[in-house]
Amino acid sequence: MATDLPDLDQFRADARAWLEANARPRVSETAPAAGERSARVLWGEGSDDVAVFHNLDEQAERTRLAECQAWQAAKFDAGYAMINWPVALGGRGLPNSYLRAYNTEEARFEVPNGGELPPTSMGLIATTVAAFGTPEQHDRWIRPLMRQDEYGCQLFSEPGAGSDLASLATKAVRDGDEWVLNGQKVWTSGARFAHWGLAITRTDPSVPKHKGLTAFMVPLQAPGVDVRPIRQMTGGSCFNEVFLTDVRLDDSYRLGPVGDGWRVALTCLGFERDHSGGGGGSHVGGGYHQVAAAAAHFGLTGDAIVRQALADLYIQHKVAQYTNRRAAAKLKAGQTPGPEGSLGKLMWTANMARVSDVISRVLGPRLVADTGEWGTYAWGEHVLGAPGYRIAGGSDEIQRNIIGERVLGLPAEPRVDKDIPFNATVGVRA
Ligand SMILES: Cc1cc2nc3c(=O)[nH]c(=O)nc-3n(C[C@H](O)[C@H](O)[C@H](O)COP(=O)(O)OP(=O)(O)OC[C@H]3O[C@@H](n4cnc5c(N)ncnc54)[C@H](O)[C@@H]3O)c2cc1C
Repeated sequence: MATDLPDLDQFRADARAWLEANARPRVSETAPAAGERSARVLWGEGSDDVAVFHNLDEQAERTRLAECQAWQAAKFDAGYAMINWPVALGGRGLPNSYLRAYNTEEARFEVPNGGELPPTSMGLIATTVAAFGTPEQHDRWIRPLMRQDEYGCQLFSEPGAGSDLASLATKAVRDGDEWVLNGQKVWTSGARFAHWGLAITRTDPSVPKHKGLTAFMVPLQAPGVDVRPIRQMTGGSCFNEVFLTDVRLDDSYRLGPVGDGWRVALTCLGFERDHSGGGGGSHVGGGYHQVAAAAAHFGLTGDAIVRQALADLYIQHKVAQYTNRRAAAKLKAGQTPGPEGSLGKLMWTANMARVSDVISRVLGPRLVADTGEWGTYAWGEHVLGAPGYRIAGGSDEIQRNIIGERVLGLPAEPRVDKDIPFNATVGVRA
């Protein structure tokens, strides 16, 4: 951590000045709190985009990422992209209070949103590289990922391994100085535009399933990597299947020790839960302020049922915010966040579902018939997209299992294959 800390007020003023020179202020009556999508909405002004996943064609997706990349490069070069990262890794080594100060200022401005890939790349992949990489690997990946010169995605799930990730079957076999990877990953967000995939592979099927795994940073342009988009019910293709066929990597692509892939995966998934639950994901979809603005516009704030639903939405929104603050306070005090990540993620997905319910009541048929009216039909992209996050990053049921076991002290789920060699439990796959 930096020893001579800059004055926090001065830091904030400098950040504001930089933002004023480089970004457009948001169109809203009041500034949103850090991590919130927006504050009170001026009906009919600015964008009415409330999509959870975007339906963009490839060219539009590339244009959006290019805008995001240009913004992030400028932010990186100005020293605001790695505020609380250690100096040794290229960060400024400042406490989280400086990051919060910057985020509060940035939330007042319109900045490009590149979808799921940039936050995955920076918040999950770069942080996992930081945790497990060698100094050479830090030099190779952290700066390009944090400046968005390159993007990384998460090659974890497989057709036969999602919630039970440790049963994954993609193999990495040593061949001289190289590793040869074969297998199929699925639901890989952003893989079409990513340069790297953090893959968890099985390197030893003769030990119990959690123990024989190893992580690699796979270059997605390497021979043998085939990325195929999956079309989702919202129309777009945010995620993909990734086939690995005889992909050859030298040992410098291995992240963490051989056989330690489960720890790499858990660390990355921990970042994901903290990220989505702790506010990082709360910029997707619509929120309380947009629903309230729609209710006001359509003259429904006097309707007793709508008022009750709005009050409930506001309360749950605040409870989620305070839970996130509690997790942030723990971090600030140097403690490791416990189950708050799971609680935060559950609350976030439950609140997205609540938003869907209330806005459906407010809009009625306007939700499904496109009349071109601002702030109406666009909500379809929230309502259809929100269920995806009940599954992504560990489903609601899995978060409940974690809370049941680690918070409530309920008996652990039976895990009959925990101590049995992987190839003895799945003879046909090994
Ligand atoms: C939008 C989106 C983006 C994603 N992005 C990525 C990505 O970038 N990279 C990646 O690797 N993966 C990604 N995934 C995949 C995601 O991690 C998996 O879908 C998730 O872990 C669930 O696995 P599954 O789909 O195989 O479902 P399964 O594990 O087969 O689960 C099916 C159902 O059974 C329930 N269930 C399973 N086990 C239990 C249990 N022990 N107790 C109670 N209920 C249980 C689940 O909750 C679910 O309802 C993404 C998924 C989505 C929806």
